[in-house]
Amino acid sequence: MDESLHGTRDKRGHYKPGKLLKIAPLYPPQWRKIPAWLPSYFLPWNVFYAVSAFVYWVLFIPPVDVLQTLSLGWVLRLYIINVIAVGLFYGAFEYRLFLARAQGDRFKYNPRFPGDTQSRQFWFKSQNIENVLRTFLYGVSIWTLFGALVLWAWANTWGNWLTFSEAPIYLAVIAVLVSMLHQTHFYAIHRLIHTPWLYKHVHAIHHKSVNPSPWSSLAMHPVEHALYFASVFWHVILPSHPLIALYQLHKAGFGAIPGHIGFDKMEVGEDGAVDLHAYGHYLHHKYFEVNYGDGLVPFDKLFGTWHDGSAEADAAMRARLAKMRREVTPS
Ligand SMILES: [Zn+2]
Ligand SMILES: [Zn+2]
Repeated sequence: MDESLHGTRDKRGHYKPGKLLKIAPLYPPQWRKIPAWLPSYFLPWNVFYAVSAFVYWVLFIPPVDVLQTLSLGWVLRLYIINVIAVGLFYGAFEYRLFLARAQGDRFKYNPRFPGDTQSRQFWFKSQNIENVLRTFLYGVSIWTLFGALVLWAWANTWGNWLTFSEAPIYLAVIAVLVSMLHQTHFYAIHRLIHTPWLYKHVHAIHHKSVNPSPWSSLAMHPVEHALYFASVFWHVILPSHPLIALYQLHKAGFGAIPGHIGFDKMEVGEDGAVDLHAYGHYLHHKYFEVNYGDGLVPFDKLFGTWHDGSAEADAAMRARLAKMRREVTPS
């Protein structure tokens, strides 16, 4: 597929989509735009996470009497299932786009592939090896542990748990809001870990992937994993259902991937291409001080850190950073 129909490359060969990023038309509600925006809220990603949570609920989550006791057996089993699921899901994108290079560098923001260069800043001088190890050693472990704790709390009726027959409409609303809850939680912890001390000791690890690949998604310091996956605990505080808590967890675990794919579109068939919604967070990895969230919630716009990919947003960012530098080092 001809990428130049959808964007341009600069002198260094970096790809920029022609379409600018947009804040969701909800603040205040722009009623005429909402119907056109709504499918992108659900498809393809959120439906996928909801379905994956449902599959887990039906096939892999043990019965309630087993969940009542926190034991290594079922928690380890869940960890292995998560390892397989992440291996397959992340691995599928990594294999197709970065190993098999099925579409070359078409639609790839940064024309270089991280696997082609070695760097001392990574374990074994490899971005991929460090990122895979961090994903499975810390990321999936903390994801599994937090999921197990929430299921254990539910089984012991600790929290405000409801059933679908008790509150079908309320629970449907909570399920629809999972993505917004995720973005609000993520925005808050992301701003927190960009404060100087936490950035240096915690979040800098995630930002080593300036040119991200799918394995960068959960390449974090374990403290960041803990803050990130803590979004599931909102369901112990709010009246909720464990299936929705599981969806929240899958939104965090599998949902880390879209921002880190490094490609704007994935080619499908001869002339088709799926939008990967990766550009907003790619710009965060490129410029650090923009797009702490993804535009679903309006905080970046509100606090002046929104970058929609335009030259104007670029100029505004540079002016803001220059002002910040002047304030730190007054002449
Ligand atoms: Zn990231
Ligand atoms: Zn960051």
